Amino acid sequence: MNFHEYQAKQLFADYGIAVPAGRVARSPEEAVDAAKAIGGEAWMVKAQIHAGGRGKAGGVKYSKSFDEVREYAKGMLGTKMETYQSAGVALPVDSVLVTQATDIAQELYLSVMVDRSTQSITFIASADGGVEIEKTAVDNPDAIKTLIVNYVQGLQPYQTRDMGFALGLNAKQVGQLSKIMLGLYKLFNEKDLALVELNPLAILTDGNLAVLDGKINSDDNANFRHPELVEMRDIKQEDETEVLASKYDLNYVTMDGNIGCMVNGAGLAMSTMDVIKLEGGAPANFLDVGGGANKEKVTEAFKLILRSPDVKAIFVNIFGGIVRCDMIAEGIIAAVKEVGVKVPVIVRLEGTNVDAGKELLKNSGLAITSADDINDGAKKAVAAAAAA
Ligand code: GDP
Ligand code: MG
Repeated sequence: MNFHEYQAKQLFADYGIAVPAGRVARSPEEAVDAAKAIGGEAWMVKAQIHAGGRGKAGGVKYSKSFDEVREYAKGMLGTKMETYQSAGVALPVDSVLVTQATDIAQELYLSVMVDRSTQSITFIASADGGVEIEKTAVDNPDAIKTLIVNYVQGLQPYQTRDMGFALGLNAKQVGQLSKIMLGLYKLFNEKDLALVELNPLAILTDGNLAVLDGKINSDDNANFRHPELVEMRDIKQEDETEVLASKYDLNYVTMDGNIGCMVNGAGLAMSTMDVIKLEGGAPANFLDVGGGANKEKVTEAFKLILRSPDVKAIFVNIFGGIVRCDMIAEGIIAAVKEVGVKVPVIVRLEGTNVDAGKELLKNSGLAITSADDINDGAKKAVAAAAAA
């Protein structure tokens, strides 16, 4: 799950990490009230969406009066915002975060994630932070400092101090960085997170470190033990079809091609997408209907796939291991009839009772094309999509 910046900052505060005073607002008046409650002379108004890159998209504004706070909040709330990090999707701005504005001397980058190659929780930091960390990684890789945490020992204070001095911080700032890193490490473990990113972690003109932005991603597989995190979920920021799919326990990811895929098993689903690509086509989705695919699941899967107007053909690739092919064929026939599928459907069945399954499809009277194997099926699907 992804979280909003204001939620991330709340979690940081819960773990003893200082964040600038701030309040979330859902109307321009609430934004003004927030600024009044915070006090001071300048405030940041920040669009709350599940994507970075808001600054460049006009979603982060420095305001010097209550009127400016009101105007900026008004300009953002109720709009949809696309950023270079939102994967081509415009996300709804339903709330803004109003925070105390600070004067920045330098922007740093700090993140924590699970590094797959070392199978360890790893901190990545750079003194050359700001909005373009991806660019730093390419242009100046030496500026990026990495700290791999030993799982048994946990994060040690001397390691956080090493990191601080490597970033060129002074003694006071090193102390502040240590507190932030130790807090993040505890938060990361206790909440089963997958990624925390502070970009920027700023050095202010008064010399103090300040957490100005926070992004958190948690491990969905641990949702069952974090009802407090699940409560924070904002499904309006998520892909509608994927949210619907999760209701039916279907593993679904939207993609940008035109061939809908219905497959059982994640491995087979990945191979199916590979073979479609190999044949010159492009999958419209990843979809794993699971090992125990039945008629209901197959019907829901067809409905999900057909929500996209881009789908020009559907490739069903099912291996009857736990389930029987004749049962799957019955499910496909019933689903095609019920949903009223208008695009070509190509079906490849293999496994238990495959002949009975193919026979059922042949005699169904529906425009279903049978395929001999995965390559044949992908070829036919690509051709059908191209002809549409
Ligand atoms: P993002 O673009 O979505 O990553 O949003 P950020 O929260 O990182 O804000 C973008 C940029 O706005 C930051 O890199 C800063 O340069 C600037 N910014 C954010 N907070 C403050 C602040 O309190 N004071 C000032 N002067 N600039 C800020
Ligand atoms: Mg940022």
